[in-house]
Amino acid sequence: MTSSFFPPHRTLMGPGPSDVSARVLGALSRPTIGHLDPLFVQLMDEIKGLLQYAFQTENALTLPVSAPGSAGMEACFVNLVSPGDKVIVCQNGVFGGRMQENVERCGATAIMVQDEWGHPVSLDKVAQAFADHPDASLLAFVHAETSTGVRSDAEALCALAREHNALSIVDAVTSLGGIELKVDEWGADAVYSGTQKCLSCVPGISPVTFSPAAVERIQGREHKVQSWFLDMKLVMGYWGGSSKRAYHHTAPVNDLYALHESLVMLQEEGLEAAFARHLHNHRALVAGLEAMGLSMAVAEAYRLPQLNAVNIPEGVDDAGVRTTLLNDFNLEIGAGLGALAGKTWRIGLMGFASNERNVLACLTALEAVLAAQGVDLNRGAALAAAGEVFSGR
Ligand SMILES: *Cc1c(COP(=O)(O)O)cnc(C)c1O
Repeated sequence: MTSSFFPPHRTLMGPGPSDVSARVLGALSRPTIGHLDPLFVQLMDEIKGLLQYAFQTENALTLPVSAPGSAGMEACFVNLVSPGDKVIVCQNGVFGGRMQENVERCGATAIMVQDEWGHPVSLDKVAQAFADHPDASLLAFVHAETSTGVRSDAEALCALAREHNALSIVDAVTSLGGIELKVDEWGADAVYSGTQKCLSCVPGISPVTFSPAAVERIQGREHKVQSWFLDMKLVMGYWGGSSKRAYHHTAPVNDLYALHESLVMLQEEGLEAAFARHLHNHRALVAGLEAMGLSMAVAEAYRLPQLNAVNIPEGVDDAGVRTTLLNDFNLEIGAGLGALAGKTWRIGLMGFASNERNVLACLTALEAVLAAQGVDLNRGAALAAAGEVFSGR
């Protein structure tokens, strides 16, 4: 007989999922009701309002796609890209490559703007791409590159798109709730995120928002959207503004209780306070890592507070360290991805997991494991340095 599964209590400090609070887990276990129950429809309206708050937008088409961040990505591309379109795609890590895949699968041409991994998207290169391809109808980029820990200038990139009469598609999977993201003020047209990063909700839902200009382009499409499930014209019938909701698919009812709770928590804290908390804990972690003798992989000006890329010291057994952290300390940190595999660790401080206790626990555990591997460290310096940042609050 197979028995029930009881996962251990890990501390999740990787690239996502992040720690889910007891409040959100509690919401998840409330009684399931019908997805067309009037009370559930009310909850949907509240979720929409809370997402508008989190995205800082008044976009009417703001909703949680019933699938992970990758589905939110695909929803933006399949609805806005038509066969034959030219799309400028910025790549400075893993996720830009997935955007290219999406564009090409829509029968369109991706004009790639490449930047080195660990660096932000170059505004000059994007301006040049628009000069070379004035007929490009979209610009797609990743705001917070989780694969490298780099923040790109989303505000300036959205402005560049508008200057060239193109719409923007913004990957905000790791930015929502962790760093400033002003959808309306920046004029972003299609933005997608995920629940398992800085919202600290369970994985599997993707909040998206579309500007009026994006909705207009969707309404004016000549080709049917290639995905039935992600076709926003159909989804709008279920999530739309009218009080009559038509069945499209069965919403993940309990997951949406959880999302609602995590967004209520974000609203209680306040967006600005949440951003400040992420920054403060990031500063303490960096101070500790540097005092220990480690170095950060990303220049200070572009670092993401919620995803800290650290250089792995020479001669260290990358996988061995992560396995020991997991098995002996119940602590998960992320490996490097793609070009950075074996070169960096990615330490997440996302959402609920961005707290003082996790910073200190991670520094303590990492120091112990590295010292056991014989790495030459300034023992004891990390906690003092992090403590200084915390006490300077
Ligand atoms: C995690 C992530 C995704 C994918 O989200 P999933 O929920 O894993 O599908 C996309 N883009 C970025 C920047 C991410 O960090």
